[in-house]
Formats: sequence, C-alpha cells, structure tokens
Amino acid sequence: MNLVIDYMGEKSTLNPSLVRRQGLDAERVEQLKMSHIVLRHLRAQMSAIVAAGQVGPGGGPALLPQAGGDAPAPGALVGVYRPDVARLRELAELVDQMEFCQQELWGFDSDPHFHDWTRVPGCTCTKDANNPYRRANAGILDYPRQVEGDCPIHGGADGWMPSGRPLPEGPFWVVGGEYRVADWEEIIPATIEVHGPYAAREEALATWRGLMGAKFELNQWRYRVIGRAAASLPDAGRPALEAPGAACGEI
Ligand SMILES: [Zn+2]
Repeated sequence: MNLVIDYMGEKSTLNPSLVRRQGLDAERVEQLKMSHIVLRHLRAQMSAIVAAGQVGPGGGPALLPQAGGDAPAPGALVGVYRPDVARLRELAELVDQMEFCQQELWGFDSDPHFHDWTRVPGCTCTKDANNPYRRANAGILDYPRQVEGDCPIHGGADGWMPSGRPLPEGPFWVVGGEYRVADWEEIIPATIEVHGPYAAREEALATWRGLMGAKFELNQWRYRVIGRAAASLPDAGRPALEAPGAACGEI
C-alpha cells in the first residue's frame, strides 16, 4: 500500500506499523490520506490569515519577533498583529473535528486528549508541554492545557478552545483528483481538489455526484466524501456512483 501523502509541497507518510496493527485496508488508508489533505488545506488557510494579520507601519507587511523570541533588531520593521481571530477559531474547530474523523478512520476511540490542538498556524501556546503523545508517555494525559495568554486562538479572556466534542455527523468534505492509473493509490498532487466543509451529508453527496458525473469518462479521477459518520455503516469498497455510504468517507 502507498502510505505517502503529497500535497502542497509537503510529503508525509502514514505510520506503517500502525496501519498494520489496526488492520487497515487500502481503502481506509486512502481515506486517511484524504483526511490529511483536508487538514493541510485547513492549516494553509490559517497560515494565510496569520500572514494577512501582520500589518506594518503604513499598512505594509510587518516583521515581528517570534513568540518568546528575541526582540526585533533595531531598525527592523515592526508592526501590529491583527489576525482574523474569529475565522482562525472556526478553522481550528474544523481541524479538531477532522482529528475526531481520523480517530474513527484509524479505529481509535474518539478522545480529544490525543488531539494536537497547538498544531495550528497562529497558535503560540507551548508545543512540547501540550504534545499529547509526550503527555501520554509520561502518564499525564489529563494534565491541564497550557495556554499562552497572547495566543490569538486560545489566549485572551474568553479562553477559547475547540469544542472537544465530535459532532454526531460531519462536517463533510469532498476530496479527490486524478490517480496514476497503474496503482489507484497515488493521486497526482497538482490535481487534488478539496471541497467543503458541508454540514450535511446530503450536501456533500450532491457535490460528490456532480464531480464524479463531470469526470465520468475520465475514469482515473476519483473523489471521496470524508467526514465523521455513523461508525456502524459498512465500508462501500471501491467508489461507484450508486454505492451506499460508508463510515467516515468512502462512498
Ligand atoms: Zn494557542
């Protein structure tokens, strides 16, 4: 099985021993790869908001000291930091919901303690102390989260955090593109499309049907619906236009 995720110039791979341990088949692996593409898509949007929020004198770009870092050099262009916090939080919530989706796809329990909630662009909270796997290894998974007061996402008086609860269903995404025909496991990065989020499954399905219909004669194109769903639904196998829904993805 091809475990590599290649999107937006960044390559990563699913953990091969975990894939074996959880007994994931090729379809489930592909769903997980698509879910990681959604995560990157969300994080890229957050990065753009963070960059747009860095405003220098006269409205131009600003050079800012890193959080916790040294003060800027004398003469450096220093600016103010005004990201669109409301939108960053919306996106951070979508990231968190996608982590629930991934837990379902891996066959793990839905457990927000294992979500890496500081791994979103714009968050300035300490990464190491909040890393869920380090905390699990140290046996302190339930340790209070360490929030930096000036983190635009989690800091501030309201102490915003992702809801920490999976929605009963969704949000849904439609992700796909052109596959290299030889293996059906390698999507061509430049062709990847991410559509969504959709709150309702039917909405995502309508998009999926439209995309599949438009590419009907190009049979190396394939889209999947990715999102939390009733975990008891069976896998649908390879996609077909009239196939039933599946747990968290394959249609
Ligand atoms: Zn933060």
